Amino acid sequence: MRERKDTLNVIKLIFPRMVKSCPGLFVLSGLLGIANSVCMGLLIYCSQGLYDGVLQAINGVTDKGEVISIALGFGCLTIVNQILNGLSVYTMNVMFDIIKRDLTYDLHRKVDRLKVISYESETMLNQLQMAMRGRDESIFLLFICFTPLTCHLPLYIILGNYLHMLNPQLVWAVLIIFLPICISYIYKIRAKSNLVDRVAEPKREMDYYYRCITNREYFKETRLLGAISFFKNLFEESMYVVNRLEIKFQTKTLRIDLVAKLITILGYGVVLYLLIDNVVIGAITVGAFAAALNGIGLLFDEMKELVGDDIGENIGSVGAIKNLIDFMELPESYGADDREESESDKYERDIIRLENVSFKYPHSKEYALKGINLKIMPGEKIALVGENGSGKTTLIKILLGLYEPSEGKMHMPKGMQTSAVFQDFKKYEMPLKENIVISDIMKSVDEECIRRICEKTGVVADINTKLGVKFGGIDLSGGQWQRIAIARGLYKKHNLIVLDEPTAAIDPVEESAIYEQFKDIVKDNTAVLVTHRIGSAQIADRIIVMSRGSIIDSGTHQELLKRCEEYSNMYYAQADLYRI
Ligand code: ADP
Repeated sequence: MRERKDTLNVIKLIFPRMVKSCPGLFVLSGLLGIANSVCMGLLIYCSQGLYDGVLQAINGVTDKGEVISIALGFGCLTIVNQILNGLSVYTMNVMFDIIKRDLTYDLHRKVDRLKVISYESETMLNQLQMAMRGRDESIFLLFICFTPLTCHLPLYIILGNYLHMLNPQLVWAVLIIFLPICISYIYKIRAKSNLVDRVAEPKREMDYYYRCITNREYFKETRLLGAISFFKNLFEESMYVVNRLEIKFQTKTLRIDLVAKLITILGYGVVLYLLIDNVVIGAITVGAFAAALNGIGLLFDEMKELVGDDIGENIGSVGAIKNLIDFMELPESYGADDREESESDKYERDIIRLENVSFKYPHSKEYALKGINLKIMPGEKIALVGENGSGKTTLIKILLGLYEPSEGKMHMPKGMQTSAVFQDFKKYEMPLKENIVISDIMKSVDEECIRRICEKTGVVADINTKLGVKFGGIDLSGGQWQRIAIARGLYKKHNLIVLDEPTAAIDPVEESAIYEQFKDIVKDNTAVLVTHRIGSAQIADRIIVMSRGSIIDSGTHQELLKRCEEYSNMYYAQADLYRI
């Protein structure tokens, strides 16, 4: 019962959205479908006249000319039917393309607006994958609901009426043919919807393990570690789970199909018996016998196409679209400008302020941040230092508005634009220029500005150099890619820029050099550097020391060396790294 209600809800929610995309085409396509269906029904009516006419001509009751004119009428109707059929299929395909395009826009917009914290959740990644499928399959739902009403129902009404006219018992016999098919169809929808939900998780695992074996970014390391067989085993285990669930579903539906088909054949036998009996006793003409047989054959073919091929093949749609709707209803992030500013804030409006901020990741018991109080002045250069896991990355994600505090308050100056460079920055397989402008695609491309930033950040390649071997470009050293990532961060218009250890993979002396240049470039803007290297932190106006999710001290390098044990321990432990 719950499933049925869900399915109805899915239809209620997604249908208006799809129709809104192209209401005119929707109506036109519906009208063409109805006209085509009516035409097919009329052809069956006319075929009785044609068959009887031929028989009468053979027996000399009518002349040949009359039969030929009936045949001509029949031929014209057939041509009209074919034209309507072609137009109906064409408009339906155009309509489906437009709807698919609009749903894709909606999904992209949603992915863009989702709270970044959502991506930390395993369930959310499943939902995204399932929503992608829902987008692809939403068209089938429309097809399943739309075509029975437009392309099939008028035909069924006309033929039902025709059979009833010949012999009312025929209608009951025909129902015996179709009812089992419809019941098996409802069962399949429910079972498939259930299957889609259950295989999503193992399928995602399976895809991930497959990528670990075959993808370029993983392959080298997996091979060197000798871990291919390890991932292969994990892949096979997930595949086994998926296969087992799918085979179970196939077996069940096969059994249901078999029973439905047996009953259908029985119904067919009854229809044939009734028709033969009626012809023999003279209740219907031979032409009516042939037309009724044709009509039932047509009904059967149409029903088989609708239920077996169209609906049966795409039965997973409802389950998948349900996931698309769930995904579209996920909470969205708030923009920097949506945050409210209270009266008391106004005198401090340009200061970034965190008051008693705590943060917990989804599904995590421990707080990653606890009671953070912090003020960052306009133009201030801050360095966040601390051991791995002390909460530096989490804090800057809160600062950037990617995560919302679980507790406490944050004030960001209104209209503050942020930019960031992360440790796990991406190497885009595109020309160098595009690797940089990608951070601010709304800005018109300013090649001079790109060259200036490249020069200052030490990117040596020409801005038109094609990067990435996948598309025939060149690869660069790790250090050069890191400088490109920093250039990308700087290119974006910003008042606050955050660097989260994008230099972690290069040596400390080189890192200090990059940060010195960086300080010079950011000039009046506010900057936050995350580093676990004390040498680099010294370029900041103020160093904040973090430990186990809390700020334990803050000050200049000299102040902290004197009073903060954790800081001085880190400094002396790393001092050797900076001696050249
Ligand atoms: P740092 O940047 O100083 O290395 P992080 O901010 O990355 O520290 O991590 C702070 C704490 O939050 C750590 O205990 C870490 O294990 C935990 N943590 C980080 N990311 C996640 C996540 N996605 N889910 C759950 N816990 C996380």
